[in-house]
Amino acid sequence: MTKHVTHWIGGKPWGGAAERKGDIYDPATGAVTGSVDFASASVVDDAVAAATKAFPGWRSSSLTKRSGVLFAFRQLVHEHRKELAGLISSEHGKVASDAAGEVARGLDVVEFACGIPHLLKGGYSENVSTGVDAYAIRQPLGVVAGITPFNFPAMVPMWMFPVAIACGNSFVLKPSEKDPSASLVLARLWAEAGLPDGVFSVVQGDREAVDALLVHPDVRAVSFVGSTPIARYVYKNATAAGKRVQALGGAKNHMVVLPDADLDLSADAAVSAGFGSAGERCMAVSVLVAVGPVGDELVGKIIERVAALRVGPGSDERSEMGPLVTAAHRDKVASYLDSGVQEGATLAVDGRLHPVIGGEDPGFWLGPSVLDHVTPEMGCYAEEIFGPVLSVVRAPTYEDAVRLVSENPYGNGTAIFTNDGGAARRFVTEVECGMVGVNVPIPVPMAYYSFGGWKSSLFGDSHMHGTEGVHFYTRGKAVTSRWLDPSHGGVSLGFPVNR
Ligand code: NAD
Repeated sequence: MTKHVTHWIGGKPWGGAAERKGDIYDPATGAVTGSVDFASASVVDDAVAAATKAFPGWRSSSLTKRSGVLFAFRQLVHEHRKELAGLISSEHGKVASDAAGEVARGLDVVEFACGIPHLLKGGYSENVSTGVDAYAIRQPLGVVAGITPFNFPAMVPMWMFPVAIACGNSFVLKPSEKDPSASLVLARLWAEAGLPDGVFSVVQGDREAVDALLVHPDVRAVSFVGSTPIARYVYKNATAAGKRVQALGGAKNHMVVLPDADLDLSADAAVSAGFGSAGERCMAVSVLVAVGPVGDELVGKIIERVAALRVGPGSDERSEMGPLVTAAHRDKVASYLDSGVQEGATLAVDGRLHPVIGGEDPGFWLGPSVLDHVTPEMGCYAEEIFGPVLSVVRAPTYEDAVRLVSENPYGNGTAIFTNDGGAARRFVTEVECGMVGVNVPIPVPMAYYSFGGWKSSLFGDSHMHGTEGVHFYTRGKAVTSRWLDPSHGGVSLGFPVNR
């Protein structure tokens, strides 16, 4: 028996027959475990129509009611976190503890959004002119859409929809077709939490569904997370259709290790951040920049640690790293090992030879690899690999290292490892990157700050969640108000000035 995953429209699973479908795989076995319906433009129309119908009621519900639904949703997701983590692990491949971590980080955003009454407080000024008051409010946009990647099938949607819904919008989610099941559990939990039908819908599918959302006249804003070429495409098309857009793209995150750093701590951090979730994280460390003389010793410590990593199925408690998401992606990632060597890098660790515990042969396996003596001209440096490959670049000085990070076309995350507070402070000030860690290799901001990169890692002005998320999903309105006062009567054609 294989599973069948469909859309969620108007508060229930879709009952139609899809013209197109995709396969869902278990990356640990390579087996097809189910199918997912692909939405046509007319299915997207139905979801947007349900969201449009639900919007007026939801936007006029009280802040108390909205935060009550969010609190109930938070509790339900917490209670179902193991079910969600298991589903994610079975379709994405990441180990169960990692999947549980993504659900927990998504819940952080739900908890942030529970505070919506406070977050939507505006300003008020009494008597800006005689007898005149002024105040500012923020109002929801209407129907907003979210398009999300395979690597965080629960957390990335939860960067978006708790805030959008708390602000009073209705939300249509288009998750990745590679691991679509978590989105339906989340939809069911919203319904159980008391969210009115149509406020949250899911359309499964591929480019056809995305294109329909990008030009739909009733969709007011689009949040996107995925690779840079698609982020650029989404930004261009949705802004041309008059929508507000935030489109987060790919990454090439550098971890800079200064000569005074604790090399054991740095090696632990590089291995954890490079190979966690098999490197399929937009904040994974993919380039290690060893400054000055530390390169050989640091690479030695990394090799020792990589050899001890336990690679195996996500469902096996012994596993620390699972398979890659698809066979095609595994092959593409592995191709960088050959091209890197051809271009002059040293293959210090070849993940193709790494043992896999309890893994079945056709699974999409690739162990952790280290390419040393990488230079900026090489393809393995210039392109986003998005897999378990750590490239080591040697930089003679701090200035060379910071230039490397700042000149990279991506600007998602970066980290510096040092015991020198002055050097760390200078790095934080100078580096051209959206999220910076000091002795923290994966500096993902907490839910009450905002997540987003610079340069080719983000198209648009707003980062996700935190205050910027609230601003993205609302429009400001400034009100100037005077209640009748006989002393202010009379016609005046002059421009209003304050008295
Ligand atoms: P992707 O760009 O292939 O897909 C993302 C979404 O776009 C999916 O929903 C997919 O169905 C859709 N899509 C794919 N091709 C499309 C097309 N031609 N036209 C319209 N829509 C299309 O990304 P992915 O492989 O699912 O995820 C990995 C990528 O996401 C990596 O590049 C990673 O760095 C990036 N990512 C970035 C962040 C961030 O915060 N910046 C977070 C997570 C992942």
